[in-house]
Amino acid sequence: MKFVGAHVSAQGGVYNAPVNAKAIGATAFALFTKNQRQWVAADYTEDDIIRFRTALEENGFSPDYVLPHDSFLINLGNADRGKRKRSQDAFTDEMHRCQQLGLRLLNMHPGSHLREISEEACLALIAEGINRSLEVTEGVTCVLENTAGQGSNMGHRFEHLATIIDQVDDKSRIGVCLDTCHAFSAGYDLRSEELCRQTFQEFEDVVGFKYLRGMHLNDSKTPFDSRKDRHHSLGEGSIPLVAFEYIMRDSRFDHMPLVLETVDMTIWPQEIQLLHGMEPANA
Ligand SMILES: [Zn+2]
Ligand SMILES: [Zn+2]
Repeated sequence: MKFVGAHVSAQGGVYNAPVNAKAIGATAFALFTKNQRQWVAADYTEDDIIRFRTALEENGFSPDYVLPHDSFLINLGNADRGKRKRSQDAFTDEMHRCQQLGLRLLNMHPGSHLREISEEACLALIAEGINRSLEVTEGVTCVLENTAGQGSNMGHRFEHLATIIDQVDDKSRIGVCLDTCHAFSAGYDLRSEELCRQTFQEFEDVVGFKYLRGMHLNDSKTPFDSRKDRHHSLGEGSIPLVAFEYIMRDSRFDHMPLVLETVDMTIWPQEIQLLHGMEPANA
């Protein structure tokens, strides 16, 4: 069974997100648990937490199908000790917010070496940062997102994700979210059923589906292997619909949040329906 939704707004209060998700016909969703462009936010009040948990239940969502996304500012791989500390504190705060809301996943971008340290050193710092945040929180799994490989961003090779996972102490609380736009832009081809089969076999061989906790279903505005992160609506960009059909028909993507981060939020209800229409009849 597939659980599909989008990255919805939490404007006005985190408890608005489940309502917004329900309104578009979603059975899964993503959200920012705080303003994603600021370092600090006020702590949740008891009322915020109760209202969120109530809204989640009232709108029929299980925490298993909610995939919060961390702040774009966080870089656990920053070589600068002071800046890394700030990212570490912010990441732990986000893990803690998820815990307070009763959520079980936190999607994060691995980090960037900023051309100051080697890729290996950067990946080691990221793993160390994850270990520290996992030690002081409970019940929330850190979900590494693959990236398009813009600039000095790490995470655009499956090997980067595998290297981080290798160095995380608690393997039960580390996972992966694959973004189709990022994978395609990073050179993982999805332009036919056979190419999808090869790409996901490579993921199985290098990382393993046992670590897959969610997907971001996005088309790409830029061509294959562009190393650019430009999302597009499904069927509008350079990834053919066959890629999304492949995912919707493959049971390895069952029972996890499948989240649209596509550019036109007014057509999310249609995109969700389009995806469900691709599922095999007996699913
Ligand atoms: Zn992301
Ligand atoms: Zn994404």
